[in-house]
Amino acid sequence: MAERYAVIGQPVAHSKSPWIHAQFARATRQDIDYGLIEASLGGFERAAEEFRAAGGKGLNVTLPFKEDAFRYCKALSPRARLAQAVNTITFGERIAGDNTDGVGLVRDLVNRGITPAGSRVLLMGAGGAAQGVVGALLEAGVAALTIANRTETKARELAARFGVSGSGYEALEPRFDLVINATSAGLADESPALPAGLLGRAKLAYDMVYGRDTPFLAAARAAGIATCDGIGMLVEQAAESFFVWRGVRPETASVLRELRGR
Ligand code: NAP
Repeated sequence: MAERYAVIGQPVAHSKSPWIHAQFARATRQDIDYGLIEASLGGFERAAEEFRAAGGKGLNVTLPFKEDAFRYCKALSPRARLAQAVNTITFGERIAGDNTDGVGLVRDLVNRGITPAGSRVLLMGAGGAAQGVVGALLEAGVAALTIANRTETKARELAARFGVSGSGYEALEPRFDLVINATSAGLADESPALPAGLLGRAKLAYDMVYGRDTPFLAAARAAGIATCDGIGMLVEQAAESFFVWRGVRPETASVLRELRGR
């Protein structure tokens, strides 16, 4: 019988994860069934427990539950512990939490020919997504990392955990090679309030939001800067989750190509 997995979030109906995992399963001949769970705010743990009790083998966790998932898991991978956020849960002897967002982002950058090593990086946001990628960016050898967030204290706290600099947006100066938007502002058709000219001569403006043209990407394009959305990261983090669960690493390029064409 197919083993059951799902993505849990709020909202989650738009998620492409079921389709992506179905492609991975077909290509690697794994018998899995991957669904969607829309949990109410404050209802993460109950929904996760219901799924586990019904025989579920694993969950991907999306906005806004990655920190709830971190608290819920009984065992943590080093990268989940570092992130203090979980996007991949495995139900085995213990409830094990992992975080594949950072690997997903770095692999997508490398696939695009962008080498994080030696780059000066601005990471916008301090929620679950931002927390998930700081460790991987540092591991990839970025030369300098600045974390900025609307609620400045959250940026400072996250930055302090990793020994990098954290601030609000007003204090930023244009000195970045790579600007990554890990906020959910684009979902509301908004952009972090960046000072004019901040993007300067950045090589790439990256928005983790996918499937829509965000105001951040539009502003970057207008400033003549190369842009990309988070669809490649989505596929790469999914591939890493699939590997965590099934021990098989799926090929991603064809899935990404097909997803872009849909
Ligand atoms: P989250 O934990 O809810 O955090 C949201 C973050 O966005 C916070 O830093 C928040 O700032 C900021 N924010 C929200 N609205 C804003 C606005 N109008 N202006 C400025 N900042 C704003 O969410 P998350 O889990 O980190 O996810 C963030 C985004 O990344 C989501 O859109 C998600 O879909 C995307 N994501 C994509 C991938 C991928 O694979 N492509 C993976 C993970 C996440 P405050 O702290 O000030 O509220």
